[in-house]
Amino acid sequence: MSATQDKKLTDIVVDDLMISSEKVAHVQLNNPLEHALLILVKSGYSAVPVLDSSYKLAGTIGKTRILNAVLGLERFETEKLSDMRVHEAMNTDIPCLSRSDSFMDGLKAVTNYPFVCVADEENHFDGILTRRVILKQFKRDYYTK
Ligand code: AMP
Repeated sequence: MSATQDKKLTDIVVDDLMISSEKVAHVQLNNPLEHALLILVKSGYSAVPVLDSSYKLAGTIGKTRILNAVLGLERFETEKLSDMRVHEAMNTDIPCLSRSDSFMDGLKAVTNYPFVCVADEENHFDGILTRRVILKQFKRDYYTK
């Protein structure tokens, strides 16, 4: 039985719904953009979290940012994919949740993003909350009323 099976939405916290860090694909600050693009293409994800060497959350990176970073005047300068590093192209302006945040905090956060990262007070990466999981929970609640 899932942890949220019998819970009311008001009793559900982010920890109940998040995908934990060990199941989340990520890249590191100093990885070449080529590595990040490989991870993204092979996994089919549009973006993944970026972590530093102590597994602290640093940002996210997606295919569009990578392609923009290597976009020249007339062509994609794909040779840059091996020279440029993830920290040069990643997005650092991202929302972040903590495990104890409420379902409603999660719902608000994923309104504008397909997923939002979860981290502790010291910014250690705990996992992600996806919009899909929030919507599934909402649907389950709606039909069990
Ligand atoms: P989904 O709700 O499964 O379609 O996921 C939405 C987005 O969340 C994906 O495109 C990825 O950017 C991210 N995501 C979901 N699951 C994972 C995972 N296991 N590892 C890394 N990123 C993920």
